[in-house]
Amino acid sequence: MKEQIKAQFKQRFGTDCVVYASAGRINLIGEHTDYNGGFVFPGAIDKYIMAAININGTDKVRVYSMDMDAYCEFGLNEEDAPQEQWARYIFGVCRETIKRGGIVKGFDTVFAGNVPLGAGLSSSAALESCFAFALNDMFNDNKIDKFELAKIGQSTEHNYCGVNCGIMDQFASVFGKKDCLMRLDCRSLEHEYFPFHPEGYKLVLLNSKVKHELVDSPYNKRRESCERVAATLGVETLRDASYTMLADVRDKISDEDYRRARYVIGEKQRVLDVCDALERGDYETVGRCMFETHDGLSRDYEVSCEELDYLNDVARECGVTGSRIMGGGFGGCTINLVKEDRYDNFIATAKEKFNAKYGHEPEVINVIISDGAHKVED
Ligand code: ADP
Ligand code: MG
Repeated sequence: MKEQIKAQFKQRFGTDCVVYASAGRINLIGEHTDYNGGFVFPGAIDKYIMAAININGTDKVRVYSMDMDAYCEFGLNEEDAPQEQWARYIFGVCRETIKRGGIVKGFDTVFAGNVPLGAGLSSSAALESCFAFALNDMFNDNKIDKFELAKIGQSTEHNYCGVNCGIMDQFASVFGKKDCLMRLDCRSLEHEYFPFHPEGYKLVLLNSKVKHELVDSPYNKRRESCERVAATLGVETLRDASYTMLADVRDKISDEDYRRARYVIGEKQRVLDVCDALERGDYETVGRCMFETHDGLSRDYEVSCEELDYLNDVARECGVTGSRIMGGGFGGCTINLVKEDRYDNFIATAKEKFNAKYGHEPEVINVIISDGAHKVED
């Protein structure tokens, strides 16, 4: 990818360039925990957005997107926002950097990527983090700290792309490290690296390619349930709740709220259990926790769907070590940890059975935990 981007840059702009990259991400465990003050456990993956860049001495940014085969030019003032969605990510990153007192001047860039779009791997965060990192390196002597770079990406989504996201995706893309997952405490924003090099296993996503849009905004309803239970317990968020505390208020809350809270409390503990297991290199326990998360999301939190439950069932039948819904639910991918010797059979079976039932094969996305934002050396 790097050579193609550099060649394209040379052809379009005729100067030398520097190449930067940032990654998409997975989340191994810790789902619907962010707004409950809990933990998430993401890692950057070997799927990147890569950009060749050079300062052009003007006050304009000139961008060519290889994947969209589209060109866009914009200034750096608030009123210069481009129409094209893909260019707004880059414009937003420039603006958010400037708003924080950072320097951004005109530059030329050609970029491309292999993070699947809209599959739940956060291609948008990869794009933002790539440019946030690049602008920091080119114009600001790397003085903007890494957490601020993640926030520049997050604010770009909020203020220029209409997506009210949390910090996990940009955090993972900026901080990602080869063979490491990162436990992010969504309350304190403290983070810690844990070793993840599952020798003899593969990590593979199966994208169901379905997305169920539900009428009564299930995401908000889940949040409201959690807030109600927290209020009944007299705690700020369910982060501070335990099973015992929940049992004590069982007759004061609805059965639905009870099950929602039961999932969240369990999920907090599972993230911690997975971290302990990884320090021992115990991937069987990691896998067991993933299945438990799936069950919790499906039965208690009720954010699964038929297709994802089916992929999960097939994983169990094929002796996969761990499998669960990844992301908010109601469609998208499952993430699977599978022993190498079971991999081929699992993939073939999942493709065949899913296709027979739903009329299309799931998309297979193999991932390796890799570095996040970085300069690509020659
Ligand atoms: P995701 O879950 O992958 O982040 P989003 O809808 O949030 O999905 O972001 C996808 C958007 O990001 C695309 O519509 C496009 O505007 C931009 N994008 C991502 N990857 C690329 C790419 N390789 N080239 C151009 N734009 C991209
Ligand atoms: Mg996105």
